[in-house]
Amino acid sequence: AMNYRHAFHAGNFADVVKHAILALCLDHLGSKDKPYRVIDTHAGIGAYDLTSDEAARSPEWVDGIGRILGADMPDDVAAALKPYLDLLAEMNPGALTEYPGSPEISARIARPMDRIQLCELHEADSRTLERRYARDGRVKVEHRDGYKALTGLVPPKEKRGLVLIDPPFEDRDELAHMAAAVMPALKKWPTGTYIFWRSLKNLWAADRFDNGLTEWLITEQGFEPEKILRADLWIRDLASEGKLAGAGVMIINPPWQLEEKLLALLPWLAETLAQGDGYGWRLDGGLTEEDVEEADA
Ligand code: SAM
Repeated sequence: AMNYRHAFHAGNFADVVKHAILALCLDHLGSKDKPYRVIDTHAGIGAYDLTSDEAARSPEWVDGIGRILGADMPDDVAAALKPYLDLLAEMNPGALTEYPGSPEISARIARPMDRIQLCELHEADSRTLERRYARDGRVKVEHRDGYKALTGLVPPKEKRGLVLIDPPFEDRDELAHMAAAVMPALKKWPTGTYIFWRSLKNLWAADRFDNGLTEWLITEQGFEPEKILRADLWIRDLASEGKLAGAGVMIINPPWQLEEKLLALLPWLAETLAQGDGYGWRLDGGLTEEDVEEADA
């Protein structure tokens, strides 16, 4: 069954982390005068009306992006959020009424020479996407299982770009499906940037995925450990019951200096988005433990 409707969650804390990171990665890809491709395997509908019934019934964005806009932030945080906040401002010249999904973030940051490949399995959603980008020649929408499509979509002919895998986590075995889908893709295209979103509802399962993938990349695919970065955030104790408390991403081949930017951003986001005791963040990549401890002090 495909019951997941992202409209209920659009702009929540998990979207803020995911989308701020996506925007930073795209911004970096666009800094070179060569085309890139975005492959978004679980695309959603592209953008979300925050005044819609779904968003109004469950206004998660109020405690997500709603807390970020207008907040005081140090310069290094503002720099890390710039690509994300710039496109939000462009979409919402007045009050915030529309929130970008990953396709819209890609479409707004990508240049005329770049290409965007979107997969969405939900029939009506894929049609919504198709209508939205019908006049944008850079965007291709496919009504397809993104996991099954991925191996055939890499490497893109541009030979540079990014894969975003952002599944709904309705299925208990989601992480196993994700691992099975990404391993052949990583073998075929080891130099692409990959962003895997994971819920931390089951921290043990997320850690098992992260550790298994990391070990496979290092020992069997010859990846340098610095090419693997993990960024997670939780807004209350991860052991608390109920709504999603934490989420984050694994990034393979992160762009240069992403880790430093996230080291400035995550502690600030954790404080700003906290909804209870026991909130926090973690960042695991090439930086030393001392660097990370200093940022948390
Ligand atoms: N990436 C989007 C964003 O950031 O705005 C949000 C995506 S939402 C979390 C997950 C989407 O995946 C839903 O729209 C759902 O219909 C779709 N979906 C579920 N299983 C899929 C599959 N196997 N292949 C492609 N899309 C799928």
